Amino acid sequence: MVIQWFPGHMAKATREVKEKLKLVDIVFELVDARCPLSSHNMYLDEVVKDKKKIIIFNKIDLCDRAETAKWKNYFENKGYTVVYTDAKNSNNLNKVIDKAKEELAEKIARQVAKGIKPRAIRSMVIGVPNVGKSTFINKLIKKNIANTANKPGVTKKQQWLKLNKDIELLDTPGILMPKFDNQEIGKKLSLIGSIKDDITPLDDVSLYLIELLKENYLENLNNLYKINVNSDDENVFIMEKVAEKRFKKIGGDYDYDSTIKLLIQDFRTQKFGLITLDNYNFLLENEEQNEN
Ligand code: GDP
Repeated sequence: MVIQWFPGHMAKATREVKEKLKLVDIVFELVDARCPLSSHNMYLDEVVKDKKKIIIFNKIDLCDRAETAKWKNYFENKGYTVVYTDAKNSNNLNKVIDKAKEELAEKIARQVAKGIKPRAIRSMVIGVPNVGKSTFINKLIKKNIANTANKPGVTKKQQWLKLNKDIELLDTPGILMPKFDNQEIGKKLSLIGSIKDDITPLDDVSLYLIELLKENYLENLNNLYKINVNSDDENVFIMEKVAEKRFKKIGGDYDYDSTIKLLIQDFRTQKFGLITLDNYNFLLENEEQNEN
């Protein structure tokens, strides 16, 4: 089964983001530090055009730092400013404000030189679902405000939240529905909770998780389930080993349904430890193949 998106919904969300973008000087794109490339909107530059942007690797507390650091380099080489944050624990949020001021320093200096008194910098948060946008906004202003704005049917006037005397933030985040034709990206977005489970083929997602774990985090996989599989074992074979350990057979057959749910749940509750899903070597191999 192929993961399907709802183009109508997606188009509306993108339109809304574009409208709000007109109001701001700088955009904070939140991505999930466990898959910075897959959760990044590849069309960001098209959508955001000439605005300044900072890419925020949120949930930094959950990722494999060494692997994610390669993605920081990757984005920096493309000219982006990258900041790591753990919004849940309010870590490094002030760095975002500092970087935003740095990015706009030149523009402000030009205004001052012309005798214009600069107004506060206006910013907004965008990103795919579940990367931590509401948490980020709430922690930045130390209140619980962004959630209420997300409820369907609750329309309220947009507000500027004062982060300090120089910078304001739009109180509602822009939700991006990334366009992707790569099913692997879809499966990673499902694992991080950006795509609803009821439109996702969870069997494929869990087999893909096994594939990623066996290739990059075999020890974590073996340790969690007290199994002893190898990276050249078939994914289904590994799933059956997990099933054998954790569930009773049903009518002589493995309880695949429960095992699929368990694997995904264990990823989402960090039972495998610190994992980065976007593997940098994989990207390099693909780029090399494309060049040949
Ligand atoms: P949104 O859909 O992008 O607005 O995401 P939310 O703000 O609703 O956050 C989704 C989930 O991720 C919530 O359970 C948050 O508590 C959690 N979360 C947000 N930021 C972080 C973070 O930096 N680290 C961790 N571990 N969890 C986070």
